[in-house]
Amino acid sequence: MNTYRAYDFIVIGGGPGGIGAAVEASHFGIENILMIEKGENHSQTIRKYYKDGKRVDKDYKGMVVELNGNVDFKDGDKDSTLNYFDKLLDDEKIDVIFNSEVENVVKDGDIFKVTTSNAGFIAKNVIVAIGRMGKPNKPDYKLPASLSNKINFNLDKCSQNENILIVGGGNSAAEYAIALSTNNKVTLNYRKSSFTRLNEINEKTLYECAKNETVSLLLGKDIVQIDNEDGDVKVIFNDNSSNTYDRVVYAIGGTTPVDFLKKCNIALDKEGLPIFDENFETSIKNLFICGDLATASGGSIAIALNHAYQILKYIKSQN
Ligand SMILES: Cc1cc2nc3c(=O)[nH]c(=O)nc-3n(C[C@H](O)[C@H](O)[C@H](O)COP(=O)(O)OP(=O)(O)OC[C@H]3O[C@@H](n4cnc5c(N)ncnc54)[C@H](O)[C@@H]3O)c2cc1C
Repeated sequence: MNTYRAYDFIVIGGGPGGIGAAVEASHFGIENILMIEKGENHSQTIRKYYKDGKRVDKDYKGMVVELNGNVDFKDGDKDSTLNYFDKLLDDEKIDVIFNSEVENVVKDGDIFKVTTSNAGFIAKNVIVAIGRMGKPNKPDYKLPASLSNKINFNLDKCSQNENILIVGGGNSAAEYAIALSTNNKVTLNYRKSSFTRLNEINEKTLYECAKNETVSLLLGKDIVQIDNEDGDVKVIFNDNSSNTYDRVVYAIGGTTPVDFLKKCNIALDKEGLPIFDENFETSIKNLFICGDLATASGGSIAIALNHAYQILKYIKSQN
């Protein structure tokens, strides 16, 4: 990825918090706003987790909220809520990219680099509004419950001197393999015969590791089955070959909010919750969190909309 498209303001996540942020930014006169959403449409939590016809209360679960900003959200049902958010995005002519999962936000000087699997963007202010419903993707085949400690979706349980298989072909898989290779025997398995989604740095570093034999590449082979072999993970591939590993780490898309925050270097408290101030600014200046991500005890649409208004009011006061 060579070029980064520049925006004044980037919102990650197209749920109520993200939509509210984009709309408020537009009301405050910010031009060049981009919203990036991993689903094929906005508001994935509402689409996936609300039953059809569900009543949608503004004062959800009795949490009475007076809306402060420019979004006039009212009681309704699932459809009317989604239609209202459609209209907001259309009316404000917000630039939205769907089907794009943001992998990382890195600050470089005064500018944030926001990276998806196939594109990069830069902006001075970024809001993370990815909610709390995210989870890592799992493979289609069954994973033995007895191996749950040895089959992971992030690096939290990894230690040293293990024989580890990383599964995936994106930047997370490459970064996991590179990070673990200093203290472990690492193999990276990708079902395709070459990598097409890696950024330049990861591609270069990974091929250097492969050349130095600190990471073995196992390309063009797909896993079809995982078995427990005397407490180790036996991996069977589609060419009938098999290998046994101490640990298998899947990096095949999707991520939990806390893993995302860690990747962005946002400081977390002892409970793993993000630290932020009264303007929802994280430990990193000009990087904000909004909505359910900033509501440990359970949020609501109206609460997310008020966060968005507060953040934009603050950003505007700084300029
Ligand atoms: C079953 C149910 C019923 C509810 N009923 C109500 C109700 O009646 N009234 C009410 O006010 N509240 C209700 N809520 C709560 C409300 O839905 C949430 O508080 C609200 O959706 C939070 O908005 P958000 O923008 O913070 O997060 P979300 O709505 O979760 O939106 C986050 C968005 O970010 C996207 N995303 C995640 N990761 C990435 C990434 N890496 N890159 C790009 N995009 C990403 C997701 O796909 C998603 O679209 C309900 C919740 C549930 C689960």
